[in-house]
Amino acid sequence: MDSIINILPEFVANQIAAGEVVNRPASAVKELLENAVDAGSDHIELHVKDGGRTLIQVVDNGCGMNAEDARRCFLPHATSKLSGADDLLHIRTMGFRGEALASIAAVAQVELQTRTQDSETGTHVCIEGNKTTLAEDCACAPGTNICVYNLYFNTPARREFLKSDEVEYRYVEEEFNRMALAQPGICFQLHRNGQKLNHLEATNLNRRIVQLMGKAFESRLLKVAQNIPGLNVFGYICTPDYNIKGRSKQFIFVNRRFIRHSGLSNAIERAYQGLLPEGKFPVFFLHIEIEPENIDVNIHPTKTEIRFKNQELVCKVLVSAVKFALGVNQLSDSIDFGSEQALPYSYKPQGYMPDAPKLKLHPDYNPFSNPHPTAPKMEQNAGYRESYARNFALMQENLHVENTPQQLLLDCVAEVQADTRIDPPEEKQADTKAESRVRIFQLFDSYIVTPLKSGLAIIDQQAASERVLYNSYTEQAEPSIPSQSTLFPQTVEFSESHAGILQKIKSELAHLGWGIEWIGGNAFMVNALPVGVVESRAQDILESILTAYADNLLADTADLRQNVALATARQLSIPKGKPLSQEEILYLTSQLFSGACPEVTPSRKPVLWILEHETLDGFFARSSVKKKTEDVQ
Ligand code: ADP
Ligand code: MG
Repeated sequence: MDSIINILPEFVANQIAAGEVVNRPASAVKELLENAVDAGSDHIELHVKDGGRTLIQVVDNGCGMNAEDARRCFLPHATSKLSGADDLLHIRTMGFRGEALASIAAVAQVELQTRTQDSETGTHVCIEGNKTTLAEDCACAPGTNICVYNLYFNTPARREFLKSDEVEYRYVEEEFNRMALAQPGICFQLHRNGQKLNHLEATNLNRRIVQLMGKAFESRLLKVAQNIPGLNVFGYICTPDYNIKGRSKQFIFVNRRFIRHSGLSNAIERAYQGLLPEGKFPVFFLHIEIEPENIDVNIHPTKTEIRFKNQELVCKVLVSAVKFALGVNQLSDSIDFGSEQALPYSYKPQGYMPDAPKLKLHPDYNPFSNPHPTAPKMEQNAGYRESYARNFALMQENLHVENTPQQLLLDCVAEVQADTRIDPPEEKQADTKAESRVRIFQLFDSYIVTPLKSGLAIIDQQAASERVLYNSYTEQAEPSIPSQSTLFPQTVEFSESHAGILQKIKSELAHLGWGIEWIGGNAFMVNALPVGVVESRAQDILESILTAYADNLLADTADLRQNVALATARQLSIPKGKPLSQEEILYLTSQLFSGACPEVTPSRKPVLWILEHETLDGFFARSSVKKKTEDVQ
């Protein structure tokens, strides 16, 4: 029997390989655009005819090729971007396989005109099914002009397989859009059947999105920016009220390469959880910049799939970045800190709010640890500190409160039934003499309820106190939080890794009132505590600060100081279920609204929720109450 195995002639092998890389006009477009970008161009034109079937032309003003390279570039594995296996680890260019031009030339008629920036003449090469039909000098502009005619002219089966021109054009457009979003700094033009459809001037990502997606996107975009060593996430996400059925408007770029990655998409969608209707997907344009060593782009020939060495970390950073963008922007848009008199709070405290809180020092407050408690210049500051002393004292009690969810629930029910704590008139008179119009009360021992200009604000007391503490830790270059010496210096001991962290952050903790000395091994001596922290809890609280710090290292970009502040604020915040006096409520809210970012905690959880005036009106289907009151005035 005759042998049935043949070795394929090279040109047939090339045609088959070409099918892998160039499976439709859009994939040729992608390869040619990538080459133009790799050539360092800042102006790239794409022309297509009949969905790319009869013509794909890319004109760039990049580095161009000399006469020899213009001929060699169509050889299989001809690339100027990689010279050895080691280089694979450091790829910064889009291409590196040297496959694209060879593959395209195997299945089309290709005409190339190219000239390097410093050469007088250019080179003109024509190649058809891998046979060179022309190679000569020519006059042309610096850069490269490449035309691909009659794709699949020699492979009818492939040609049959193509969809309508309209559909093929959509794929082409998709590649064009991806590249335009990947490279907003490059000017792109798109021409279809001789008509200029798009002219995108070089700009930033924000404007590029609007150029491409339309003006409506101007108000939909929320900025995302997060970076940790070796990993930078930036770009824009759309507000959740703009959502679509599929994932067709989800753009993720890794080192400016468009990718599809279900792991990352899912992570981003998780960050939107609860904000989108069932079956709807968010829209985003996110760039990830990562050391090339930490990814493997090589797993798929068309390179839209990549693998990360540490996918979990990338996902964490993405989720945190997206959540932050959502939290900050969404809420701050809805809060209306206008300066209307009736507003209980605004960024600038109004007259009804005490300049320096009229609060008494905590009895345990040690004035000796405060270097200049009565210096006249520090007066304002002293009030500030005094108030923190008070705040810490408040927290001291709270640290003991342990509430089971059940207990909380029972308390709520009891309270709703009694219905007496809600703004009792006598208490109001006694406590808020300065501003009788201010209505503010605690609900369920966990929330503070107060009207704002835009609606009814419900503030989570734990989140609010976390924000207030964090601000106090980070607002000054050298925060000095009231500290008290311990009666008996305490020895605390930690695990190896926690002890390592404590070594690193103990000087930062000193700014926040902790006196900690290393005494050997994993043991430390605590000889001072922030006012408010109970001695017996020192070890526990430090332990939780160290744990939180270690967690933050993974999820956050925070520097050491921010991280310590973040971890400490979280541990010392007022817990849910803690009843607060009217004075405490006022203190907490005034601090909250006079500081930075009142709407989210430093760890990006919401601090408040606003039931908007319009929502209320809508619910009761009434005309605006606001309007009526205006009419009356
Ligand atoms: P790769 O991009 O993987 O290197 P290609 O087959 O796409 O492989 O291109 C082969 C080579 O041709 C490139 O390495 C580059 O040197 C050269 N080349 C292709 N397109 C251009 C262009 N637009 N400008 C300058 N050089 C180009
Ligand atoms: Mg290439």
